[in-house]
Amino acid sequence: MKTIGLIGGMSWESTLHYYRQLNQGVNQSLGGLHSAKIIMESVDFHPLEEMMRRDDWPGIGKQLILAARRIEQSGADCLLICTNTMHKVAESVQNHIDIPLLHIADATGQKIVSEQLTTVGLLGTRFTMEEDFYRARLEKSFNLKVIIPPEPDRALVNNVIFSELCHGKVNEQSREDYLRIMATMHQDGAEAIIEGCTEINMLVNDSHSKLPLFDTTTIHVESALEFALA
Ligand code: GLU
Repeated sequence: MKTIGLIGGMSWESTLHYYRQLNQGVNQSLGGLHSAKIIMESVDFHPLEEMMRRDDWPGIGKQLILAARRIEQSGADCLLICTNTMHKVAESVQNHIDIPLLHIADATGQKIVSEQLTTVGLLGTRFTMEEDFYRARLEKSFNLKVIIPPEPDRALVNNVIFSELCHGKVNEQSREDYLRIMATMHQDGAEAIIEGCTEINMLVNDSHSKLPLFDTTTIHVESALEFALA
């Protein structure tokens, strides 16, 4: 079994799900007392979130590169950045390490294509919904049509992530808002919804929605398990 490297803490609420699902996945495959071999660096999210707000992506990149190098030097065979948004600096992190970075959007795109879907709605932070590092990657590499909510719904989705989900708060009104936004994207042609933020599945899961959901946390975990157990 290979060793999985994680940069976590963004937020730690969703990193918990990575840790649990990776261990459960290894145990399901290997049985006994087998568990995942993991090297994790869990960051202090507050200063990084402030840097995001200042648009200091070079500064964020620098910090994540240092973390990625430490993880590589500690013996990890691959690296996961346990957040969609921070994949804005994924390319520059990959350029500074020799182990493969398993990209969350690639894992998600592959899964959607394998289910023969072509049009998806995307929910995530403002960065993930609006910028090219994520959406354009899905469109160009996987030939998907990606729909995002209009304003002011994007602001609402982004705000729920940072003010509630990253604090571990699950709010009934926010769930209703998300379900309404998902239903509108469905009316606009989305066959499924990408939960493109690693905390969203805490709020809306298959028990709340009939629309197919692509939970990026679980999909990212599956790509790591496939790598580690190959
Ligand atoms: N975990 C979130 C994501 O998947 C948001 C937190 C962050 O900005 O990293 O995008």
